[in-house]
Amino acid sequence: MGVAPEHAFALDVDKIRADFPILAKEVHGKPLAYLDNAASSQKPLAVLEAIDHYYRAENANIHRGVHHLSELATKKYEDAREKVRAFINAERASEIIFVRGGTEAINLVASTFGRSRVGEGDEIVITHMEHHSNIVPWQMLCEQTGAKLRVAPIDDRGALIVDEFEALLGERTKMVAVVHVSNALGTINPAEKLVAMAHERGIPVLLDGAQAVPHHAVDVQALDCDFYAFSGHKMFAPTGIGVLYGKQKHLEAMPPYQGGGEMITTVSFEKTEYNVVPHKFEAGTPNIAGTIGLGAAIDYMQAIGLAAIEAYEHDLLDYMTSRMSAIEGVKVIGTAPEKAGVLSFNIEGAHPHDVGTILDREGVAVRAGHHCAQPVMDRFGVPATARASLAFYNTREDVDRLVAATEKVREIFA
Ligand code: PMP
Repeated sequence: MGVAPEHAFALDVDKIRADFPILAKEVHGKPLAYLDNAASSQKPLAVLEAIDHYYRAENANIHRGVHHLSELATKKYEDAREKVRAFINAERASEIIFVRGGTEAINLVASTFGRSRVGEGDEIVITHMEHHSNIVPWQMLCEQTGAKLRVAPIDDRGALIVDEFEALLGERTKMVAVVHVSNALGTINPAEKLVAMAHERGIPVLLDGAQAVPHHAVDVQALDCDFYAFSGHKMFAPTGIGVLYGKQKHLEAMPPYQGGGEMITTVSFEKTEYNVVPHKFEAGTPNIAGTIGLGAAIDYMQAIGLAAIEAYEHDLLDYMTSRMSAIEGVKVIGTAPEKAGVLSFNIEGAHPHDVGTILDREGVAVRAGHHCAQPVMDRFGVPATARASLAFYNTREDVDRLVAATEKVREIFA
């Protein structure tokens, strides 16, 4: 056990790890095994350097200045938009809106597109495995409009029951919002199929891709989704930057989200004309450095190759699942046939928070809690889980350390 077969993949993990300075850190005197990537990923030198370079050599506000630095910063910012466009294969760069993160992206859609479409008695369909950020904005919209939230169930493995999802789509359904990959269970939803089912009935679909983009290639045109939301910090970019993709026709028809500078063409006290998309949705000075960092993260991931990342992580998840499942008293929560990156588990007799703390003393970083998905915890009848989540820089050695630390927990609580 534990012999790393990294060479079997088109991915040089030793070299990759050297790009992430934080991975060389010791925690409580032990080498760090960072297995909390679903919460936030680490950042490669290429991203750190891109941000550093921007502040050292290019810093200025964008779109407004006529001077050299402003032009440079604007170009870098717009180049990043084009990188995101290519990364998710959107048709146009104007369909990419920079926001603070996945949460803001979903709130934007709920309070503009949602608010203008949804009325009393209408329905919004989500699933039982959503992150709170794809539940609460829709609940708020329901409170404001008198619409109703309908929730598609999941089975005991944590897979969506697709027939029941389809049965919920009716005359009154005005919006579908579904997670692409679940952060609590790792389930990959059949997004393309779900979008097609909704579209057959003329219902628009938002996909929450926060946990999908770090693990496999996403093609919004192939998915045909109306909106796609994700965060930079889970895909090796900084915090405070995220993306909302929206089909051009929707973005043009939607009212703006926030008012202020940049989102207008002319302002008078009598009437304000809004700017064209995407600027209509980017009021105020944006996170320029974060956007440039996101562009650098995309370059970095693409240099490794999304297909290589997916294959490598798939193998590592299989390894982690089989080793952890073999430990007596360990119960894996979320065993859907299609999974990415995440292993949620509980240890008989031990509270997940204690598990997290003991693992931390061994240098193994996992998350313990409800993972902002309390309905998922309720569905499985647990208050919380411990969750190990992968990125392409993790190794079999990290997993072996998790296994050894879990065995220690077993000894303590046996
Ligand atoms: N959706 C999912 C599936 C997530 O895992 C997360 C982050 N845990 C979010 C949305 C929200 O992302 P953020 O907190 O970066 O806005």
